[in-house]
Amino acid sequence: MGDARLHELQTALTTASDLASALRAAPTRRDADQLVDVLRQALTAASSLGDRTTGPTGCALHPNGAVDPLHGDPEDPLPPGYGKCLLCNDRRRRADAHHPHVRPYARPRPRPHPDWHRRLSA
Ligand SMILES: [Zn+2]
Repeated sequence: MGDARLHELQTALTTASDLASALRAAPTRRDADQLVDVLRQALTAASSLGDRTTGPTGCALHPNGAVDPLHGDPEDPLPPGYGKCLLCNDRRRRADAHHPHVRPYARPRPRPHPDWHRRLSA
């Protein structure tokens, strides 16, 4: 199935290239539409090629692994360099844990009581 997509992409690109080479000095609207159609096919085929390598994690090693639940969490953001892949992030956490000065990841800070300011002025 991946081969079919690849073949579709190659065919579309070859056709686009042929069409472009055949264009004369003043291409018509029809020439342009034809070229756009073929290029769009190539684009669609090219985008679907990545489906196998980038799953939900966007990780090339674990495309269908678990997504780190902390990814995209505004309360407890992942450290820089961490991705969406839970397996890779766990590995990074373990590696970071060997360096005592680097915290594996930020812990949620205790929040002040919502009306602390009122209590101060009272
Ligand atoms: Zn990974």
